[in-house]
Amino acid sequence: MAPTIALATKHGKLAQIAPAFERIPEWELTLAEIDTDEFGTFSGEIPRTLSPRDAAIAKARVGAELLGTDYGLASEGSIGAHPHMPWVTSDHELLALVCVSKDFVIVESHLSADIRAHKETVDEHTDLELLVSRLDLPTHGANILYHQDNELVVLKGIQDPEMFIVELNTLLGSSVENLRVESDFRAMSSPSRQENIRACAERLVTRISSNCASCGEIGWGKVGYEFGLPCSGCGQMVTSVPHSETFGCVACDYSEVVSLGQHSIDPARCDFCNP
Ligand SMILES: [Zn+2]
Ligand SMILES: [Zn+2]
Repeated sequence: MAPTIALATKHGKLAQIAPAFERIPEWELTLAEIDTDEFGTFSGEIPRTLSPRDAAIAKARVGAELLGTDYGLASEGSIGAHPHMPWVTSDHELLALVCVSKDFVIVESHLSADIRAHKETVDEHTDLELLVSRLDLPTHGANILYHQDNELVVLKGIQDPEMFIVELNTLLGSSVENLRVESDFRAMSSPSRQENIRACAERLVTRISSNCASCGEIGWGKVGYEFGLPCSGCGQMVTSVPHSETFGCVACDYSEVVSLGQHSIDPARCDFCNP
């Protein structure tokens, strides 16, 4: 029987995820329309309490439960400072596939600096035309946020530049506080994010198509690194540099360590020679 995967989504990510699954036609994707906003929103009205990984897994489980399927799939994106280049905004996409009966999880991720992201406080001096181009309207969507009577109000997914400017001018002439705008990162409003979800789906499908050499289960792939290489200058072990990649199985303990091909590091990267 063809395995069916419940894809838990509110913001129509099927179009980004389905193409990758054409490589594995024996797997069937069905939409489980759950209110994924319950797990937190980008615009902050509902705080995110779980880690992105745990949130994706939790959503995937809810979707599988809703449709009564053995597999659930969900995505979670985090947009913020790039881990290696903190001055660059990046999109970290995660996809989690859970198998209910065998109780395993495959999580795949994709990190990209290609994301349209802008936020700005708006006042009477703001150049609204410039703001439209920074937010890339109407290709991307934007949110308008403000406080009124101590309540946060969020107008989401505005794509029409004229409507956007009219709305802001109206709000600027009113008594609202803390008026600001930001990119709308929901998948349907962000084509640049859609590309990243697509790339992440390709990786996940590669994982699903890779089987463990020991038990045959799906999901074989890279699970981490092993660290520690000696310095070619002083011979001290530098523990921050990886020497190998670890590949593992999601269902059994079998793993393989593959050398990255380096046997020592340059003294320039040594904590002792070049602190
Ligand atoms: Zn295995
Ligand atoms: Zn050294």
